[in-house]
Amino acid sequence: MKVISNPNTNPVSSAERDKRVAEPGFGKYYTDNMVVAEWSEATGWADAKLQPYGPITLDPAAMVFHYGQEIFEGMKAYSQPDGGVSLFRPDANAKRFAKSAARIALPEMPVDFFVKTVEELVKADAGWVPKKIGESLYIRPFMIATEVGLGVRPSNHATYILIATPAAAYFNSAKAVTVWISTEYVRAALGGTGEAKCGGNYAASLLAQKQAAKEGCDQVAYIDAKERKWVEEMGGMNLYFIKGSGKDAKIITPKLTGTLLPGITRDSILTLANDLGYKTEEAMISIDDWRDGVKSGEITEIFACGTAAVVSAVGTAKSIHGTWQTGDGQPGPITNQIRAALLAIQHGSAEDKHGWNKRVI
Ligand SMILES: *Cc1c(COP(=O)(O)O)cnc(C)c1O
Repeated sequence: MKVISNPNTNPVSSAERDKRVAEPGFGKYYTDNMVVAEWSEATGWADAKLQPYGPITLDPAAMVFHYGQEIFEGMKAYSQPDGGVSLFRPDANAKRFAKSAARIALPEMPVDFFVKTVEELVKADAGWVPKKIGESLYIRPFMIATEVGLGVRPSNHATYILIATPAAAYFNSAKAVTVWISTEYVRAALGGTGEAKCGGNYAASLLAQKQAAKEGCDQVAYIDAKERKWVEEMGGMNLYFIKGSGKDAKIITPKLTGTLLPGITRDSILTLANDLGYKTEEAMISIDDWRDGVKSGEITEIFACGTAAVVSAVGTAKSIHGTWQTGDGQPGPITNQIRAALLAIQHGSAEDKHGWNKRVI
């Protein structure tokens, strides 16, 4: 499968593009092009097409509208010191996309084909990659069920689309996020779709998000569906807890039990924290451990991580059991160190020991 290029012949002017890239926000502007690929059960994947960004036409009876058969990915292209552009671990996104597809009964896209579509879009829209540290081109691949029909069964037609949006640095180094630990709503149960990156998981989480906002919180942290006590993750980011400080600190993240989304940032930080000399552990952490840990001072820092925000400090946690604060409520030194170390690799200013960057330009 190849990518047939038929790029936008009427792109945004470079002056206007530069203006947008200078103040990108998140998801506010989209690049000049997109990639579309069609799959059918009868013929498999057809060649992808790089074409002008724009609206798509779908039959109202396309299955995605009725039964939510949809998956997506989130990944970033980072500018490099010599003016080039690199993707961060695109193979990991490709593999997860294939796993998500399998769970949602959508077709698996070959890893090389997926990565090729991303490379071609980044090359075509290279002028949209912001240059500042922490800024990036956020890339959103997704796949929808496009068979026309209302029968409930896996679609025999799927459409893959790839779009990109310049993204500002998400992180506010002066401010930690507050989280609402939801004891009412569940994100994922064993045997469900928690490990798959699918829109349905997000649809199910919006009400809890609304409740969090009502409680004055920025994000929701979910606990397990069965025992209702183990901390799993936030709606779109994995969690890390730091015990102790300095060189003796231990960096702990909830174990992947089958209901957590296996974040690529989470995985990278496990390796990176070891490189920085910290001990790491994947463990079961309960709400009680969280509360008692921050109250006693054993837990010194908490942060959330994911492609979009990279690393975000978690300050206050609130639930029906009360409110408690990590440290002084401000982003801690190890959180800041890990964020800076990861960004340095992504932006090519630190050695890429693990071969995570894939040069595109
Ligand atoms: C995407 C996502 C994450 C973070 O994964 P990254 O690969 O680090 O971006 C965490 N939780 C959920 C539910 C997600 O969808």
